[in-house]
Amino acid sequence: MDRRRIDLHTHSSASDGTDAPAALMRQASAAGLDVIALTDHDGFSGWPDAAAALPAGLTLIRGVELSAAATEPGPAGERKINVHLLGYLVDASHPPLAAACRSIRASRVDRARRIVQALADDGHPVDWARTQARARGSVGRPHIAQELVEAGLVDSVSAAFTREWIGPGGRYYQSERKIPALEAIALIRAAGGVAVFAHPGAHGRGATVSEQTIARMQQAGLAGLEVDHPDHDGPTRDRLRTLARDLGLLSTGSSDFHGDNKPNRLGDELTAAAAYEAIVAGASGCAPVAG
Ligand code: AMP
Ligand code: FE
Ligand code: FE
Ligand code: ZN
Repeated sequence: MDRRRIDLHTHSSASDGTDAPAALMRQASAAGLDVIALTDHDGFSGWPDAAAALPAGLTLIRGVELSAAATEPGPAGERKINVHLLGYLVDASHPPLAAACRSIRASRVDRARRIVQALADDGHPVDWARTQARARGSVGRPHIAQELVEAGLVDSVSAAFTREWIGPGGRYYQSERKIPALEAIALIRAAGGVAVFAHPGAHGRGATVSEQTIARMQQAGLAGLEVDHPDHDGPTRDRLRTLARDLGLLSTGSSDFHGDNKPNRLGDELTAAAAYEAIVAGASGCAPVAG
C-alpha cells in the first residue's frame, strides 16, 4: 500500500500564509510530507523560492487557488456564490491565466483598500500602508485581520471573520472582482492544469453551491473535489465523497495551511496516492519538482 503523505493545498507569504515559501518547504519536510502543493491565492510568485528550497525527499506540486464566483440558479433568481478553484501544475506563463490572476490581484488591492478605509472611517486604528506591507504577494482579508489583532480589536486572525468585522455578511466585508467559476476551470485547463474545487462544503465561509452546480462544473472540465478539508464535518465529507464518485470526480484531501493565520497544521488532511497520480497524469502545464 502506498502510504505517501500528500498535502495538496497550502499558502505561503506569497498570499495569505505567514511562512516564506522556502520555510514552508522545510516545515513540510519536518512534518513528514512526501508531496506538498503550494497554492497561493491568485498568483505564482512563491513558486521559484519553493522549488529552490526543496529538501531531499519532498516533491512540490506548483499550483494556484483562483477566486471565482459560481452562478447558482434558485427560485428567487440567480445568486453568485464565492468559490475557490485549485489549479495544479498549470503553465504560469499562459497569457490568459496570467492576465486573469493579475486582474484579480489588482481588484484585491482595491477592495482591501476600501475595507481598510471603512474601518478607519469608523475610528479603528488600521493603516493602509501597513496592511500593504504585510502582503508580499496577493493581499487578502487575513492581512487586514492582522491589523485588527495588532490594534487589540480581536484576539486572533480567525476572530476577525465574524459579522462584526470582515467575515461573511460582515459589517466591513467587501467583495473583490471574481471570475466566473466555469471560466476559471477553462483557464486552468487551457494552461495545462488540473482543476479541483477547494472546500466545496465550507458553509462557515458563506453560501455553498448545489450538487447541480457541481455537476455543471464537472461538465466544464473540473477534475476533483477537495473532500477532506478542515472546514468539512463528517456528514459533509460523506456527501461530497459520494457526489465525487457519482460524477466521476477525484476526491482529494488537504490542510489548507496558512501558517499562523489559521489553526490548520500541515498534513492534517491528506490525499490518497491514486488521486494524486491521476492529477499528475492529467496535467501538462508544468511538472512536479522533486527535491
Ligand atoms: P479573501 O481571499 O481576501 O476574501 O480572504 C479569504 C481568506 O481568509 C481565506 O483564504 C482564508 O485564508 C481566510 N479565512 C477565511 N475564513 C477564515 C477564518 N474563519 N479564520 C481564519 N482565516 C480565514
Ligand atoms: Fe487564504
Ligand atoms: Fe480557499
Ligand atoms: Zn486556500
